[in-house]
Amino acid sequence: MHSNQRGGETVANLQVNEIFGPTIQGEGPSTGRHATFVRLSNCNQTCTWCDTPQTWVYTEAKAKRHVDGKVYSKDAEVHEMTPNAVIDRIKELQQAAGMPHGLTGHIVISGGEPMLQGPGVIGLIEQMQLRSTYLVPFEIETAGTIMPPSRLLDFGVQWNVSPKLQHSGNSKRVRYRPNVLSTLAYQRVAFKFVVQRVDDFVEIDEIVSECALPPNAIWIMPEGITTDQLVTTALDILPATLSRGWNLTYRLHNLLWGNERGH
Ligand code: SF4
Repeated sequence: MHSNQRGGETVANLQVNEIFGPTIQGEGPSTGRHATFVRLSNCNQTCTWCDTPQTWVYTEAKAKRHVDGKVYSKDAEVHEMTPNAVIDRIKELQQAAGMPHGLTGHIVISGGEPMLQGPGVIGLIEQMQLRSTYLVPFEIETAGTIMPPSRLLDFGVQWNVSPKLQHSGNSKRVRYRPNVLSTLAYQRVAFKFVVQRVDDFVEIDEIVSECALPPNAIWIMPEGITTDQLVTTALDILPATLSRGWNLTYRLHNLLWGNERGH
C-alpha cells in the first residue's frame, strides 16, 4: 500500500529509514538547534563516502560503489509509514525525552534523498501543521538534483542543499542539475558543499558562478568523521572559504558522537 485516504484526499505514505531525536542539528546555519530527524530511505546518488549507506545500499552492485562495500537489508532498513504515523513517532520520542507539551523544535527531513518522495513530504508537513498549535519549522536536506514539487516551494521551509562534487564518485550527469540549484537559490536556503581539499574549490567556484548562488548562502563543510580529520581539513580550507565571503560549518554531531547512528 503506498497511500492512504484523508477526507477523500489521497495522502502518500513515506518510506522511512529511521526517526530519531530529540537531538541537535549538527550542520549548517541551524547548528545546535533542537531537532528531531526523519530520515527517508532511497537515494538517486551513490556517494562513495556516504555516511548513511543504510538508506540506499541494498544490492551488491551498489555496495561496490560505497567505500564500506556492505549490503544492507532493505526489509530491515525501509519502513513504510503514513505521515500521521511519523508524527505519532516524533511525539512519542519527544515525550519520552521529557517534553509532554506536544511537538517542538525543528523537524529535519533528511535521507537518502527526500525529493524522491515529494508528495509524502508535502503530506507530512501539512499533517504536522494540522496537528500542531504553532507553525512547526521544517528543514529539508537534499542533494539538489530533483526539482521539488512547486507546492513544496510555497511552504517557506529551510532548504539544506548539498550539491555533490567529483569526489563523491557520481558522474556529473547524475550529480549536477543547475536548474534545480538555481531554483532553490530563491528559497530560504543553505548550499552546503562537502570539501576534502582546497582543490575542490575550483569545482565549487564553477557551480556557484553558473547557478548564480548567493555567497552568504554558501557553507563549506570539511569531510571527515573523526575530530582530528575534521579539524585538519577545516584549518586547510578556512582561508579559501573566507576569501570568497562564504561560511564554514562543522559537524557537531560527529564531534559529539562520531559516526554512531541515531544522533
Ligand atoms: S546524496 Fe546523501 S544520502 Fe545520497 S548517497 Fe550521497 S551522501 Fe548518501
